[in-house]
Amino acid sequence: MAETMKAALIEAHGDSSNIAIKEVPIPKIGDNDVLIKVKYCSLNRLDIFVRKGSPALKIPLPHVSGSDFVGVIEKTGNNVINVSVGDWVVVNAVWYCNRCERCLQGEQSLCDEFKMIGEHLWGGFAQFAKVPARNVIKIPDYVDPKAVATLGLTTLTAWRMLKSKAKLKPGDVVVIPGAGGGLSTSAIQISKLLGATVIAITSTERKEKHVKSLGADYVINYKSNPEWAKEVKKITGGKGADIVFESVGEATWKQSLRSLKKGGKLVTAGATTGFNGQTNIGAIFWFQLEILGSTMANMQEFREAMSLIFTGKIKPIIDRIYPLEKLAEAEDYLDEGNHIGKILIEIS
Ligand SMILES: [Zn+2]
Repeated sequence: MAETMKAALIEAHGDSSNIAIKEVPIPKIGDNDVLIKVKYCSLNRLDIFVRKGSPALKIPLPHVSGSDFVGVIEKTGNNVINVSVGDWVVVNAVWYCNRCERCLQGEQSLCDEFKMIGEHLWGGFAQFAKVPARNVIKIPDYVDPKAVATLGLTTLTAWRMLKSKAKLKPGDVVVIPGAGGGLSTSAIQISKLLGATVIAITSTERKEKHVKSLGADYVINYKSNPEWAKEVKKITGGKGADIVFESVGEATWKQSLRSLKKGGKLVTAGATTGFNGQTNIGAIFWFQLEILGSTMANMQEFREAMSLIFTGKIKPIIDRIYPLEKLAEAEDYLDEGNHIGKILIEIS
């Protein structure tokens, strides 16, 4: 086996011109790790956040991002028994210690030493990636690995948000702002699967068609309806929504809170437009609203989410596929926000 691999290195924080394709040593694995020959890695907003950098993110450079990948096992550590060389696997990017109180309770995404593969540790935008064997699941032979790469991270994130955090019940009304991107693609499908009525909030006719095709019951265009919470109230007979699925942040926060019914829940796992949403504290206690945070998923939720994908219950929507060499271009395309579904990187 060659000693080096091609990798997309972030050489400095900033715009996408700081990404360079270079040869670097293949990572050395420990007894409990696997080495994966990466085949497909999806782009997420997190990759852009990591590249741009922030005062809170302290990582050594150069860095390899990519938190959403599938590939083939190239090598296994001495203690590894769950997968074998040649297996196709999907990776849960939550690195956890497996010994703190939260880990022992099965809440790995609340681990005291929580790290993200692709954010704090080198990820999947390279020919090979090293991950703990406990973070991978074998992809069954009858499943298209590309579909798993397309859906992996968004489905496990949306699954925890809707099922575990918001405790979605059949008949609930779920509002999904920013519908069009990868996370909402999974969220709409999971909400429908669990028996909810979905109101998608989006901006263009193209995205309206897309969310309808995924099963959204109602679509509100926020450009023609900037006060879209009023429309949600109209649709729900004046009551409001049971759950708002937030990932947009600052731009939608106020309307998201306003569209909830009494005792409603807002669950958030992202803030692509900014972190300073306006909250009416009076409305929170008077209407007894709940604001729930969520990040990634625990190992049980990861397995459940993957089985939804393996059994074809959630469909992948791929916008574009780029080769690794064009990662910078792909990230700029994601940043523009005109995509529908996921942008995939193929590694040869
Ligand atoms: Zn832990």
